[in-house]
Amino acid sequence: MHEISNKTRHAGYGEISFEDSDLGRDFSSDINDKIIKKAELVKIIDVLRYYNIIYDSYSKKIKCPFPFHKNGAENTPSLVIYVETNSFYCWGCKSSGNVISLVSKIEDISKYDAANKICKTINNSSGIFYNSDTKENINDRNNLIIEFSNFIRRRIENKDISYILEVEKCSKAFDKILCKHKINNENLSILIGIIKSKIEKI
Ligand SMILES: [Zn+2]
Repeated sequence: MHEISNKTRHAGYGEISFEDSDLGRDFSSDINDKIIKKAELVKIIDVLRYYNIIYDSYSKKIKCPFPFHKNGAENTPSLVIYVETNSFYCWGCKSSGNVISLVSKIEDISKYDAANKICKTINNSSGIFYNSDTKENINDRNNLIIEFSNFIRRRIENKDISYILEVEKCSKAFDKILCKHKINNENLSILIGIIKSKIEKI
């Protein structure tokens, strides 16, 4: 149980999709929600700085950078930045939204791609998927997995075979996700939480 393959791969940009199972879907939507929530907290000023967009703090306006508005090269700034609410509104093209919409419109990419970009590139955060392989991280990971194995052992003790098979299904789905995707400890613990609550409902 819980064999961790070296053949892990990055799930890629865009909406993250894991297995075609309830468990995988729950986990995917949890991770996607997390990426979006994390991205939304990044300051709009930092996003503008990343794109070298000049922001005039007096007028609170920038030249609309969207390709569909005068090819992103208007003469007079018409896009208002609302620092307090981390949002924008353009009086020219009537576009509005938060930092995710801003990046998604500048780059012409999906909101998931935009949220990923904000987390990974603009915010330069530690990353949703990767642990750095410090001794501490490896120990934490092993502890999470050992604790989960013990949980499973306790659950199946003195249970009938049909119950054990149901629990095994969940634990196999867990193994599959771990083999196919490299996930960091934070997300591993979310995944374990989801599986535990599934098993508790059996
Ligand atoms: Zn505009």
